[in-house]
Amino acid sequence: MSELKLPSRSEDFAEWYNQLVLRAELADYAPVRGCMIVRPYGWALWENITAALDRRFKATGHVNAAFPLLIPKSFIEREKSHVAGFSPELAVVTIGGGEKLEEPLVIRPTSETIIGHAYAKWIQSYRDLPVLINQWNSVVRWELRTKLFLRTLEFFWQEGHTAHATAEEGEAETRQMLDIYADMAVRDAAIPVIPGRKSDAEKFAGADVTYSIEAMMDDGRALQAGTSHNLGQNFAKAFEIRYLDKNGQLQNCWTTSWGLSTRFVGAIIMVHGDDQGLILPPRLAPHQVVIVPIYKNDDEKIAVMDAARKIRAELVNAEIRVKVDEREGSSPGFKFNDWEMRGVPLRIELGPKDVAKGSVVLARRDKPGKEGKTFVPQAGIELAVDKLLDEIQRALFDRALAMREANTFEPKDYEEFKGAVERGFARAYWCGNAECEGKIKEQTKATMRCIPLEQAGGPGACIFCGQGAKERAIFARAY
Ligand SMILES: [Zn+2]
Repeated sequence: MSELKLPSRSEDFAEWYNQLVLRAELADYAPVRGCMIVRPYGWALWENITAALDRRFKATGHVNAAFPLLIPKSFIEREKSHVAGFSPELAVVTIGGGEKLEEPLVIRPTSETIIGHAYAKWIQSYRDLPVLINQWNSVVRWELRTKLFLRTLEFFWQEGHTAHATAEEGEAETRQMLDIYADMAVRDAAIPVIPGRKSDAEKFAGADVTYSIEAMMDDGRALQAGTSHNLGQNFAKAFEIRYLDKNGQLQNCWTTSWGLSTRFVGAIIMVHGDDQGLILPPRLAPHQVVIVPIYKNDDEKIAVMDAARKIRAELVNAEIRVKVDEREGSSPGFKFNDWEMRGVPLRIELGPKDVAKGSVVLARRDKPGKEGKTFVPQAGIELAVDKLLDEIQRALFDRALAMREANTFEPKDYEEFKGAVERGFARAYWCGNAECEGKIKEQTKATMRCIPLEQAGGPGACIFCGQGAKERAIFARAY
């Protein structure tokens, strides 16, 4: 494994990504084209993402539940733009128990319809609102071009679905969840994101407004890392989600939905990884620290392993996620490379000399070679490690932000714009016309990623047609 180097990112970013996912043992291909097997190491990373989100969801009053995988096909057809958007991607079950089904069932591509059906039964009065439910599950969309984590037929995610009494509450919920995604991305994943609004062409099928967080990958392309939809009354009308208000009047609810998926693992890989492999942000890393014992004979082994276990216990006590690499028959050099490939933020090297001196070597994954190495005493090691993990977390964010800034351009004209989207993000005025957006996409392969919530400067002229434009948008080629 350690004998084969990854292709460098500059040489072949796509192949670097594919090989890294396989060799870091994050995921594997499945027998059905486009499906994904998430391996334990990849799942441990996803679990830490889910924990970081679930904590935030619950702190804001949301609860979890589980809705069925199978949805009557007629449900999907009830909301017009929803069916138009999802029909081409549906997996449909027509036979069950050897019998042709009376009504075909779809495997959920998302659960607005079946949850809307349940909400219509559960919600009677204004006293029943708001309903704030999330579910952790997987969904199926029949994608044609697939890539592990980024676009797979089945993917894992959470989908939140809420119902409210007023339009203002629905919008506030939509924005709150966008903020939660942004906060998790920045603070836990060390990924800078741009929160913004989608264009009509890019919004969710059935939403009034879609918001997203957009991140720049190390090759300059964009990745939509999470979305939050204000569904207005579209699904409430289609599924009769209604309540009696304080005056006894029947009203339609206002609903939202929001999701973040295993794509986010792809974002972490492509934002932080280097030519040696993965680099994981300490807050999400399955192992924050790996201890590699170094010894040549049994006497040394006894002393080194004894010290390693003591250090491990200290770190576990301090709630640091640590692994001792006790594999027999692999050299320390092999183990170093292996954990570098898997992106463990901090490595502790421990040999007989270190044991004698009562010290260890700490090696940072984000700073290869001598630059990232420090010698620290074994006494109080948990404090040194904790401090260093914080530093690594911050350094990864700073580096990702600097990369994004260096590759974000404000083109003066369309010629400059075309050059900008070859390299990264173009921040440019857009008149709001879908025709300009469509032609830009056709001519440059760049899509309108979002209209950032934060806008600097007044109005300007559309980068494509020159007409008056109120806001700047982010354009980029995207995953
Ligand atoms: Zn225009």
